[in-house]
Amino acid sequence: MSDATSSCLFCRILRGEIPSRKVYEDDYVYAFEDIDPKAPTHVLVIPKKHFSGLNHATGQDAELIGRCHLAAAEIARQRDIEKGYRTVLNVGPESGQSVFHLHVHLIGGRKLAWPPG
Ligand code: 5GP
Ligand code: ZN
Repeated sequence: MSDATSSCLFCRILRGEIPSRKVYEDDYVYAFEDIDPKAPTHVLVIPKKHFSGLNHATGQDAELIGRCHLAAAEIARQRDIEKGYRTVLNVGPESGQSVFHLHVHLIGGRKLAWPPG
């Protein structure tokens, strides 16, 4: 196991070393409840492959990034929040990214302000 994946919080969640509340899983992605929800629905969708963020993604990751978003859309459908939700990728420390394993935030279930802060 590389240094990046052994210490990565979300890789540890994927390995079951840290508990999480699973929402959805398939061969490519895993989704779980955010520990500090900012809305009635706040789910994190992560690829099962480690990469640190959109700024380190390559063309080879395009399908996985798409699959994270499609999983978020499916969860939104299941939760009946399709009249308004948001998928968010924080990229880099100044955006608020604090976990450096790419993740899509699915946020919804309340009215969302625009623009985000
Ligand atoms: P970021 O700030 O990197 O875009 O998002 C990281 C998210 O991970 C935050 O919303 C934070 O609440 C969530 N988070 C941090 N640690 C844990 C954890 O141990 N379990 C879960 N379920 N979520 C976490
Ligand atoms: Zn990771």
